[in-house]
Amino acid sequence: MDREVDMSVVSDGRLYTSNDMVKLGSKDCRGCYKCCQNMGNSIILDPMDVHNISHWTNVTFEQLLANESIELNVVEGIILPDLKMTGQNGACSFLNEKGRCSIHDIRPGICRLFPLGRIYDGESFKYFLQVDECPNNKTKVKIKKWLGIDNITEYENYISRWHYFLKNISGKILSGEIDENNTKNINMYILNNFYIKPFAANDFYTQFEARINEAETGVFCNIFKAQG
Ligand code: SF4
Ligand code: SF4
Repeated sequence: MDREVDMSVVSDGRLYTSNDMVKLGSKDCRGCYKCCQNMGNSIILDPMDVHNISHWTNVTFEQLLANESIELNVVEGIILPDLKMTGQNGACSFLNEKGRCSIHDIRPGICRLFPLGRIYDGESFKYFLQVDECPNNKTKVKIKKWLGIDNITEYENYISRWHYFLKNISGKILSGEIDENNTKNINMYILNNFYIKPFAANDFYTQFEARINEAETGVFCNIFKAQG
């Protein structure tokens, strides 16, 4: 979802693709865990993040909520989960006693990005560097290596698809085009179908695409038509 930032203040003024080299540091960060504490509700989880955490930890979405690893917040009219900062010193509950991420291999997309951000251009997105966020900024690293995600093109397509899907709905909710009752229905539909209902372990992207198509051509289409 969108966040207002002044690019001239927070970034080096450049936009990058995942094939670009950026001064980020070595592949393994210094582990100062600045980006793992006091992050408020900014580490918003997309469906693949929750799918990965649930499979890796064998804990359902409802259990993650109940044990306060995650929480729900309204982001531009849409209820979305984020990492709850409930550990010692306001840290993420996945930060272990050694100051390392206990789910490093499947850490959420926003954790992988840091200190990069995404800026959306209407169809896809580019990366930008938040220059003052991370002390580990000495060595140039290719962005796709920093992210450490297989099938980066498929992943980026998925991120764009999810972003613009939410943005479309959010725009209609915030403009008042969708009434209160249908806003509740849409929010419950998103939570149930993209977070609570498990995805099978393999081939996440295909399952996600099927669910998003079903939402757009079914229930949301009917609501938009009825309201339109
Ligand atoms: S702030 Fe930078 S160096 Fe510190 S843990 Fe995060 S990514 Fe690593
Ligand atoms: S999931 Fe891991 S990398 Fe992300 S905030 Fe929590 S401890 Fe840090």
